[in-house]
Amino acid sequence: MHTAHTPASNWQKELQSSARDLRGLIEHLQRLHDVTESDIMSTPWAKRIAAAVKNESQLQSRFRFAVTDSYLLRARLDHDRCAILGQVLPDPTELDDPVFELDDPLAEDSHMPVPGLTHRYPDRVLWYLSHNCAVYCRFCMRKRKVSKAGTAPAGDQIAQALAYIREHSELHEVILSGGDPLSLSDATLDEILGALKGIDHIMSVRIHSRMPVTLPARITEELIEVLRRHSPLTLVTHFNHAQELGEDSLEAIRRLRSAGILLLNQSVLLKGINDTQEDLRELFLSLIKNGVKPYYLHQCDEVRGVSQFRVPIERGIELMKDLRGRIPGIALPLYVVDLPGGGGKVPADSSYLRRADAEGYVYENYEGHAYVLAPTYESSHQWTLPLKGADR
Ligand code: SF4
Repeated sequence: MHTAHTPASNWQKELQSSARDLRGLIEHLQRLHDVTESDIMSTPWAKRIAAAVKNESQLQSRFRFAVTDSYLLRARLDHDRCAILGQVLPDPTELDDPVFELDDPLAEDSHMPVPGLTHRYPDRVLWYLSHNCAVYCRFCMRKRKVSKAGTAPAGDQIAQALAYIREHSELHEVILSGGDPLSLSDATLDEILGALKGIDHIMSVRIHSRMPVTLPARITEELIEVLRRHSPLTLVTHFNHAQELGEDSLEAIRRLRSAGILLLNQSVLLKGINDTQEDLRELFLSLIKNGVKPYYLHQCDEVRGVSQFRVPIERGIELMKDLRGRIPGIALPLYVVDLPGGGGKVPADSSYLRRADAEGYVYENYEGHAYVLAPTYESSHQWTLPLKGADR
């Protein structure tokens, strides 16, 4: 199957015409890959598409579906581990509710001094500027609000957040997140970045955006000018698989680099997407080759409706161990677990792990408090980590 059509060139146009339901997905795949519906329904994806269609209204009511043409163009329908379809196609298992999964496992909303701002670590805040994204990833850790119109802060809430940041001189870093902060207009971003750069105690402004992956056309010359104006800035993007690094994404990366932006990448370890040594190796090497430093590999959080993606922590540790020495150290990200209840991030394989047994994983955070993660069961599951005696 070859690609026959390219996406609309203007990013707003592309966003407006993206597939918003499963009928749309099938039609866009037909157009972009020059195939018929029956071609699609004879690929390894047929069963999964049919299951998603059957449960579509329930799945959409939990978490919206949307995918851009530039992202879908990289799909490989003939491949049962297609990293593009695997990340965007809804799955009926999202409707399961294991007891340990929560809407907000990291307690981001209960650490909000003002709407839209999480202040969890002493020296930094996470600011949710928009709950819109170009593509809705089925493993999203913020399913509780991402994609839901009207949940993002606006107007006076932006002023309130800025006032909080100004008043708290212990803050040294602001992370602009969401959703995707680059779904805001250039003018709004310009204003927010200008305000942050005017605060003396803020040493670092970081933008977390998946647009270079999911809507590379968003990285326009005009946006680059805005970012350049407020340099130095760090942009942490989110590639999970080398399949996502299309020529348009590489061009977006080149543009960002030309503006002097420090480019980092965070990935999530995802079952069926990137949970092999080959997948991770190719991803990390491709990123470093193109000037993006792999920063974090995240253990998939205990968010409601994402268990189909969760890889046992032991497996993640093994994968990272196997990669060490096989790829340059600079291409290796830190494999981290974000502790439930707001404990913060800790390296997955380290002295932070107190105990791993059939009851779960017990990690200690930077303050010495213990946090428990549920075990991730697999039929061939082996508990191979050394047990360290410590009580919960
Ligand atoms: S781009 Fe990020 S915030 Fe948006 S759906 Fe994907 S993972 Fe969630």
